Amino acid sequence: MRGIGKRAAYGPGVQPAAAPAPVTAPAGAAPAPAAELCVRVPAAGRDVCPVCHGWRRPGFELCLSCQRVRRQLSNFCRLVAPVSLCVGEESRLYSVLTGYKSERASPYWRDARRQQLAALFETFLAAHGGCIAERAGTRWDAIATVPTSAGRLGPHPLASLVAGIPSLAGAHVEPLSRGHAALGHLVASDDGYRCCEPTGRRVLLLDDTFTSGARAQSAASALALGGATVVAIVPAGRMVRPAFGASAAFWARQRRRRFELDVCCLER
Ligand SMILES: [Zn+2]
Ligand SMILES: [Zn+2]
Repeated sequence: MRGIGKRAAYGPGVQPAAAPAPVTAPAGAAPAPAAELCVRVPAAGRDVCPVCHGWRRPGFELCLSCQRVRRQLSNFCRLVAPVSLCVGEESRLYSVLTGYKSERASPYWRDARRQQLAALFETFLAAHGGCIAERAGTRWDAIATVPTSAGRLGPHPLASLVAGIPSLAGAHVEPLSRGHAALGHLVASDDGYRCCEPTGRRVLLLDDTFTSGARAQSAASALALGGATVVAIVPAGRMVRPAFGASAAFWARQRRRRFELDVCCLER
């Protein structure tokens, strides 16, 4: 947690909750405190990408994903603050990040994951809003989410989730809609999303998962082209592929470290 006060990181009329909700499942569901769900995201370092905080080959400016995504966009957000690292089925967090929006899951099961994810975002932003604002050099006055890539009808579950978090709902905006360009793993585009609201806001962009960053960075670029200042991207889970080369050692090292919600990857 950093010196800029918690309140200072939030826009007008948007106050953090008096007491951040504990990151636990609701009564009746398997309890999963943040320390069990999450894996600590490292600060930028010799083998840690200074943008996405995933593994990078030492000596390179950015990880391979960030390099490739950056080349495809006219605006590239250099401040990404993931809440946790995450792998596929091995991570308990993964079942939260996919389960909260699963249309095949029971409403009860889905709602339990939804509450876990909401608590994670709320607690993280209450604790580290100051870190993000300090690093960005500006606070945010709006919070947007990355829309779904394709195929889903109605509001995206993450937008609904943020709209339901009291401390964030007042700043929530939905300026982005899906554009015509293809998006996918390592495939980014300025036209992947359209920005359709009045410009000029300082926007914090939330997403559930961040793999190559193509979707989130495309959304950030569309916001910037629409006139917004993208303060930072905050994904709940920075996906890593530990079977891939030296990133396995990176993952093993992070798993050995204790996760604490009051330390973020923007702090040393
Ligand atoms: Zn990166
Ligand atoms: Zn922090």
